[in-house]
Amino acid sequence: MTGAELPARVSLREVGPRDGLQNEDPIPTDAKVELINALSTTGLRRIEAVSFVHPKAIPQMADADAVWAAVRQDPDVRYSALVPNQRGLQRALAAGFTDLEVVVSASDTHNRSNINRSTEESLAALPELVEQAHTGGATLQLIVSTAWGCPYEGEVPVERVVWVAGQGKAAGIDSLAYGDTTGMATPTRVTRLVGETRSAHPELPLGLHFHNTRGTGLANVYAALQLGVDDFDAAVAGLGGCPYAPGASGNIATEEVVSMLEDMGVDTGVDLDALVEVAEMAERFVGHTAPSQVLRAGPRWRTTPLAGPGDD
Ligand code: ZN
Repeated sequence: MTGAELPARVSLREVGPRDGLQNEDPIPTDAKVELINALSTTGLRRIEAVSFVHPKAIPQMADADAVWAAVRQDPDVRYSALVPNQRGLQRALAAGFTDLEVVVSASDTHNRSNINRSTEESLAALPELVEQAHTGGATLQLIVSTAWGCPYEGEVPVERVVWVAGQGKAAGIDSLAYGDTTGMATPTRVTRLVGETRSAHPELPLGLHFHNTRGTGLANVYAALQLGVDDFDAAVAGLGGCPYAPGASGNIATEEVVSMLEDMGVDTGVDLDALVEVAEMAERFVGHTAPSQVLRAGPRWRTTPLAGPGDD
């Protein structure tokens, strides 16, 4: 048996500054700026920088405009912003963003707890958002969250998720991403959902966003790679979670993804040593031990002195 051919390269979107920090105690504006600037020097080509949500909803992102104004924008990096609604979208356009994302939960309960609307109500607002984004010269990605399960409802049927994606396509979104909000995906579930989505919407670019809540994050990436998926989100140091999802813990750690992919001959364009240094910085900023295991162990080519007996 020969394995499936893996993509020669993948495009990673770093989501630590937004998705990651949104679920941490607020850190100073200049620390956010320093983090984004440092990430921009590692070879990462896509960074989700901020979210234009209402400050009352997510106080951690209240300084989005100030952060973005102070970032040293690298011309080789595409910076994106999350927008919850028309008002946020207009703020993002005014700030100069050309890559925008909107999140809709496949599960109604999660969507209501997140933005106080049903999934259908959020989907009904999409065509207007797409039109405004395009008029403003920006692209809009639909991120479907709870794509592999909901912390409130449990199972979310594959058909439901594919239907939500189809509603996005009908609304004119430029690309699609699936979020495993609380780490409920496993490789077989990834294979099934990606397969059914490709069958239904073959022309829609698809990225995947995994959380490592139950330890299956990298296995899920590998399953998706075997299907040719070459677009993944990850957060430096494994920061992040979801404030509306009980028990949600970190995104998959960018340095873990880079470490695995590069060793498998899949090009990420990222300098792992540089990225680990930024992960150390991120951990310092949030003030607690981050979940990333590559941050603890170091890249695999880093050798350690010979250990004594009892080292198994
Ligand atoms: Zn996430």
